[in-house]
Amino acid sequence: MMLGILAAAVCLSGLQLAESEPSVAIVGATIIDGTGRPPISDAVAVMRGGRFVAVGKRSRIKIPADARRVDGRGKWLVPGLIDMHVHIDEVLTPGTFVLYGVTSVRDVGSNVATMQALRDRAAKGEVLPRRFWMGRNIDEGVPSWWGAVAVKGPKEVPALLDAMQREGVDGVKLYVRAKPDVTRAVILEAHRRRLPVTAHLSNTLPSTAAEMGIDNLEHITTLLDELRTLPGHTPDGYLKTFVGLESVNFRGAKTEHLVRSLARHHVAVTPTLTVAVLPVGGEAGAVATYGDWATVPSGWRKFWADPYWDFIATKGWTPEDYNRIPTARAKFFGLVQQLNRAGVQIIAGTDTPAPWVLPGAGLLAELQLLVEAGLTPSDALRAATGRAADVLRKGASVGTIRPGRFADCLLLDANPLEDIRNLRHIRSVFLGGTEADRGTLDSAFQNADPKSVKTGPP
Ligand SMILES: [Zn+2]
Repeated sequence: MMLGILAAAVCLSGLQLAESEPSVAIVGATIIDGTGRPPISDAVAVMRGGRFVAVGKRSRIKIPADARRVDGRGKWLVPGLIDMHVHIDEVLTPGTFVLYGVTSVRDVGSNVATMQALRDRAAKGEVLPRRFWMGRNIDEGVPSWWGAVAVKGPKEVPALLDAMQREGVDGVKLYVRAKPDVTRAVILEAHRRRLPVTAHLSNTLPSTAAEMGIDNLEHITTLLDELRTLPGHTPDGYLKTFVGLESVNFRGAKTEHLVRSLARHHVAVTPTLTVAVLPVGGEAGAVATYGDWATVPSGWRKFWADPYWDFIATKGWTPEDYNRIPTARAKFFGLVQQLNRAGVQIIAGTDTPAPWVLPGAGLLAELQLLVEAGLTPSDALRAATGRAADVLRKGASVGTIRPGRFADCLLLDANPLEDIRNLRHIRSVFLGGTEADRGTLDSAFQNADPKSVKTGPP
């Protein structure tokens, strides 16, 4: 009998513990919830058990008596940001994402061992962003880089996707060597498994992939591939991205066809303007972009000086090559603007850790570049919050400040809808309802060890 009473008591206290788990209430801030709805002034967001439990006007929300209150008056509360294009297995200091308000990332190519190691680190209490994983890049024939897997043809696709699903992918990504038959098979098989598909394509036209039902396309540069005419002597490698762009005609039939295909088939586009702009700008460009709100630590500088990164560097460029940059930039930005005007869903991704594209701070730079390309600050913010979550098909968990979602949010000292650069004025970052220790994250960032991450084949 004694045992019985004891068991009952334990049970009861367990129950009480769950119910009395302390809440946090952010009181008085203006909430921009990430859905695109108008901001709610003098609002309250209550977080408990890692989730938002109540959000709305202060006059309508009952704040639990025991809640820890955070004074939000004169501040803005926005959802934690999502970087939709990262390679986290090469990021020296993944906690830096959270330091700059990026609470979720979509990884587009890391290997399963890295993803498992990060799960273990997070389980031990390290502050890391939530990770959504698109598995290895799917190539055709021979893998075009060490991070890709290749199928011989469409018949091999179902088995590959079975294997990727067993590893726990949240979607898949097609890569440059995939031709139309493989592209079609991957889209079909992924959708059969309810997985979204994104791609960095070269052997299949973006408009063809759109007509096949692809969900998302990466890099504005790959869309311009469909619109440009390459000169007879086309250079190889990184410089190729900047060649032939003067031939792109935004009023021509090719552009019209591509833009119409993407809009009609609801294909989201991740322009990754940061990786189009920052590696060619070098250190001076990075300083101009980040200013004093994100200095580049010496460990990161050393990391990028490694010859591994030569594939995305201006090494050996002539003055004539550098002269191509202004035209290229105008075309990158012009196409983003045209897509946005046509109603194509633009989402925010960076390709960090490409040279000078810092984790976290790089996404704030990307949003700034999207505004430069013609998005409103509100639209740019949605590209990294609610809209990004919908493209991930994780809108029920992340991306917005609504009851039931993970309590990931940033308290800002200035209004990001007035100026997107106000996202730099982060007062606090909450990840799953817990305020991140930004001092610790910053010191890990400053003390980055370039040897801690292995680039190249595992
Ligand atoms: Zn990438």
